[in-house]
Amino acid sequence: MAFGFELLLKKDPHSQARAGVIHTPHGPIPTPVFAPVGTQATVKTVSPKELRELGASLILANTYHLYLRPGPDTIADLGGLHGFMGWDGPIMTDSGGFQVFSLARLRAVDVTGVTFRSHLDGSEHLLTPEKAIEIQEKLGADIILCLDECPEPLDYDYNVQALERTHHWAERCKQAHTRHDQALFGIVQGGAFADLRRQSAEFITALDFAGYSIGGLSVGEPKEVMHEMLEATVPLLPEDKPRHLLGVGSPEDIFEGVDRGIDIFDCALPTRIGRNGAVFTRPGRLNLRNARYADDPAPIEEGCDCYTCRYFSRAYLRHLIMAKEILGLRLATLHNLHFMLNLLREIREAILAGTFAVLKKEFLTHYEIIPHEARQRSREARSRRQEARSREQEE
Ligand SMILES: [Zn+2]
Repeated sequence: MAFGFELLLKKDPHSQARAGVIHTPHGPIPTPVFAPVGTQATVKTVSPKELRELGASLILANTYHLYLRPGPDTIADLGGLHGFMGWDGPIMTDSGGFQVFSLARLRAVDVTGVTFRSHLDGSEHLLTPEKAIEIQEKLGADIILCLDECPEPLDYDYNVQALERTHHWAERCKQAHTRHDQALFGIVQGGAFADLRRQSAEFITALDFAGYSIGGLSVGEPKEVMHEMLEATVPLLPEDKPRHLLGVGSPEDIFEGVDRGIDIFDCALPTRIGRNGAVFTRPGRLNLRNARYADDPAPIEEGCDCYTCRYFSRAYLRHLIMAKEILGLRLATLHNLHFMLNLLREIREAILAGTFAVLKKEFLTHYEIIPHEARQRSREARSRRQEARSREQEE
């Protein structure tokens, strides 16, 4: 089946929330949807069979990583991403732009494209819009993205220049796109500025893409800014095309995004925090490394029907994580993915039943949100670790 989007319910009576189905050559994606991130053509520690059992209907893989290793030709020869990684469901790839700007050593950005050094071996590469499409056509995902620039959100003048490049690159991506079994999404940028966001939404939608992604949010700005940017952007996107919020998010961000009309979310958060021993529960995040769980016979969350909670105690999980046993990372990841995928199912049912506002209020009343400062600190620590790693590898 070719790509298409069907809106089942245009709007929740109390918000912009909507439920639909995206049709792809690898099956349907009920929306709103959360896509686990499989950076290196694997959702870390989880098999495709387990993803299927968890109810994942879409995963996102990272073009930048797969371009550098093992390379798009190798993946194309081995059946594209679907054949290569043994996942026959829908896949989305990003354009590689975000990682080039956040992970690689940047050399130069101009209208041609972006020159960077690999964080793996320091080799130099030029990523152009045409190249980003060529790589993604070889990888063969169902949904692919235009190359864009994701600048620091608060510098207005730089955002104006970057946006001009992003728009020019979008036109070239559209020109370069040849595989019609793949849906190409345009990306709206514009930093933390409502006028730039509106300008970008108008420009990108005029190019008529199969769907639209909103990039450059949840990159360290306060949550209110993200909400404001969504409110400036989403109403300008066509109602009959899917809308994707790149790199988001946490449970609270997903509720706010759905409320403002977003259909697709992708984020490494559940898998990344799981590997650090942090798990989602209805009252908020809980860190299994905490000594208070050393003798705790309870599951992560009472009433959770995931494999981890059915069979294992917090005390056992804490023991595995403290002992750096791989099973501990896996079990925490399985619970977190179950939590997110289940939450999206609940949200979708609530939209269809007209009770989304009730569910949102109920959830957010009980869920303790991580404060902005703490999120900033962990973001900074993460980027310091990444930088240290890339320096090590270059040396
Ligand atoms: Zn669980």
